[in-house]
Amino acid sequence: MSTILVIAEHRRNELRPVTLELISAAQGLKKSADDKVVVAVIGSQADSYVPALSVNGVDEVVVVKSSSVDFDPDIFEAAVSALIESKKSAVVLLPHTVDSLGYAATLASKSNLGFATDVFIAEYQGDELVATRGGYNQKVNVEVDFPGKDTVVMTMRASVFKPLEGTGSPVVTNLDVSSVQSRSQNKDFIELGGGNDIDITTVDFIMSIGRGIGEETNVEQFRELAETAGATLCCSRPIADAGWLPKSRQVGQSGKVVGSCKLYVALGISGSIQHMAGMKHVPTIVAINTDPSASIFTIAKYGIVGDIFEFEEELNSQLAA
Ligand SMILES: Cc1cc2nc3c(=O)[nH]c(=O)nc-3n(C[C@H](O)[C@H](O)[C@H](O)COP(=O)(O)OP(=O)(O)OC[C@H]3O[C@@H](n4cnc5c(N)ncnc54)[C@H](O)[C@@H]3O)c2cc1C
Repeated sequence: MSTILVIAEHRRNELRPVTLELISAAQGLKKSADDKVVVAVIGSQADSYVPALSVNGVDEVVVVKSSSVDFDPDIFEAAVSALIESKKSAVVLLPHTVDSLGYAATLASKSNLGFATDVFIAEYQGDELVATRGGYNQKVNVEVDFPGKDTVVMTMRASVFKPLEGTGSPVVTNLDVSSVQSRSQNKDFIELGGGNDIDITTVDFIMSIGRGIGEETNVEQFRELAETAGATLCCSRPIADAGWLPKSRQVGQSGKVVGSCKLYVALGISGSIQHMAGMKHVPTIVAINTDPSASIFTIAKYGIVGDIFEFEEELNSQLAA
């Protein structure tokens, strides 16, 4: 029997949805029916997350009582280290987020564990655990294995693994690390710009604009088109970099993965590897581009070789009819 340990992430009294995605990823790593998925939640009010973690696929929830209500790298590092020891975990899954980046590498290095970040596929090939992540600025997929490592820590990309449905009745156990001292203190919480914006990872219909729109003054007409069509307006990186739309609307490797999207209309977007990293999984992709050889057409279900301004005019008149 082996244990797959998932570290829950929470912020400002809310469990972050990526935790449920990691539980689903953990299920995929079970080698036998005896293997257990253990979710640990760390914090001074960790027990308040037990109901939200009592979901299908979780065998045990460990409530790790610490001295801090919020994330703290020192405390998380000590707690996860103690959890690995007590649960004899073969695999530890953390969200690939700024929190985990604050302690995962140190944890792996100090304890000589296997380690991979930003993993979007994790699977056993025979007896060998293999993690797939991007390399060379996401231009290639790299398979990483961990010869000789009894425990492997992986930070997992968000919005890749679909959460399992249904509730569960996990065993609830406790671990106390409240004596661990932190070197830092949380003074305040500052939401970054765009923090109050819609969460594009949760919407199902997106219209996304790229450099093909040409000028900032053209953004408004596509904003109106998206609103009329009932879509959320998103963008490629050059549009966010130029400040024409907030960073929170950027799709792609250094933006967001639009995990819940069902219909994605790409307007004047060439389809770089980095952009596609955030949307290539969408079941229905419609691309409009004047260049018939644009890469976006390689993943589009429907492609229109044409001008986005003509498309906008035509769709507007159809929607008005
Ligand atoms: C480390 C790193 C991370 C990155 N992260 C991201 C990311 O998260 N997201 C992202 O998007 N990019 C990202 N990029 C940038 C990425 O490499 C591309 O530069 C970017 O995606 C290109 O955006 P685009 O498709 O809008 O522009 P372009 O590549 O310039 O494409 C514009 C397209 O519009 C078409 N076009 C022009 N006029 C019209 C018209 N009137 N009608 C129809 N079509 C028209 C053109 O044919 C062209 O295909 C990243 C790059 C790096 C190095």
